[in-house]
Amino acid sequence: IPFSKKAERTQVQPISYLIQAAVQNRDLISLAAGLVDEPSLPVDAAKTLIADILATEAGGRAALQYGTTDGLLKLRCQVLEQLCTTEGCTAEDLNLTDENVIISTGSQQMLFLVSDVLLDPGDIVIVAAPSYFVYTGTLASFGVQTRTVAVDAGGVRVDEVRKRIEELKAEGNLDRLKMIYVMSYYQNPTGLTLAADRREPLVSLAREFSTDHRILILEDAAYRELCYDGVDLPSIKRYDPDNEYVILCQTFSKPFSPGFKTGYAFLPDELVGPVLCQKGNHDFGSNNFSQHLISRAIETGLYFEQIERLRSVYRRKRDVMLSALAESFADFPGGPLVWTQPGGGLYIWVTFPPTISTRRDSALFTACIDQGVLYVPGEYCYEAGEAGDLAGRTMRLCFGVVPEEKISEGVRRLATAARSCVSAAPVA
Ligand code: PMP
Repeated sequence: IPFSKKAERTQVQPISYLIQAAVQNRDLISLAAGLVDEPSLPVDAAKTLIADILATEAGGRAALQYGTTDGLLKLRCQVLEQLCTTEGCTAEDLNLTDENVIISTGSQQMLFLVSDVLLDPGDIVIVAAPSYFVYTGTLASFGVQTRTVAVDAGGVRVDEVRKRIEELKAEGNLDRLKMIYVMSYYQNPTGLTLAADRREPLVSLAREFSTDHRILILEDAAYRELCYDGVDLPSIKRYDPDNEYVILCQTFSKPFSPGFKTGYAFLPDELVGPVLCQKGNHDFGSNNFSQHLISRAIETGLYFEQIERLRSVYRRKRDVMLSALAESFADFPGGPLVWTQPGGGLYIWVTFPPTISTRRDSALFTACIDQGVLYVPGEYCYEAGEAGDLAGRTMRLCFGVVPEEKISEGVRRLATAARSCVSAAPVA
């Protein structure tokens, strides 16, 4: 079968194997799968909400009919209101109305659609290194080139973004730069948050270089609500008062339930029509029943109760994982490890000493399978050949789905596997 160029460019997402392994083998402790905590999924809330929706014939029919391509108006108004409450501003301050809001089938669909309307093969997107591998896989399927920017404790470095843009300008390639993709809160895979003092400068940078065409910032705030310490920072979008440069994507998957697969975005005026046209081709509207249910969850407050519950569950799980790492790797014979201390989200990013490879084909990965534990090799989060040896000695650990009591055991298994690799290949 002669497949399309796009199909040829589209690779199997490496994480699929890891998620499948976790789902199929319940004895395996998967610190790889980015699934959410199961006991806290809102089963009771969903029962109540479904019963409410179906309580009247009219309510039931409205939810069981097709919805509109842009999504349920009430839900679009609610998410806009919620954004304003969180940011402490009015919709006018952001130059947004409900018409700038689109409900999507998870935020992943919105990342895809926005890319679809902006990017041609050969175009350029700036991304962090490491970055969210599902989205970089999406970009690869579009034949898009990525230019990467190092991250530090404050997330993406704006000075590095400037450098990349200036390089593109010097090469005569600025016209191909369409977007800068940034996860602003507890990024996947590192758990790092974009520092407060980098947010406005990032928008200024996009504005400064948007002389011949607009360079957009794709702000992915998938983990914003999962915040365990400190204060919630203003979004990057907050620094875009004319609604020109920033597309803000959010989701109900993490703060409520991924089973509803419902996301939403706030878009500049000019993008709304083109994105809706593509969405029309995809599904002409996301799951309407989910939207009615989530809207009701917001209205009744069950949504906010769920967020509070999740914060305490995940805060504890994060702390258990951090303590387990400190304990299990305290006197690691291969040399010192470092790991991030995320204030939210679901991930911890671990960097091993140069003597240990974490790659998919490494002795450590195999030893981990033998021990019954899985991680995401850091190399999946970098472009091939990028970041030198760092890509090959990092890993993403997720404390989302593993029961609290198994997190320490999982980390212990990881440490046992790592120790076996040190003794098998002693440091020269
Ligand atoms: N962005 C990031 C950074 C994510 O980690 C995820 C899910 N893992 C998504 C977007 C997409 O999630 P969903 O489609 O369920 O909203």
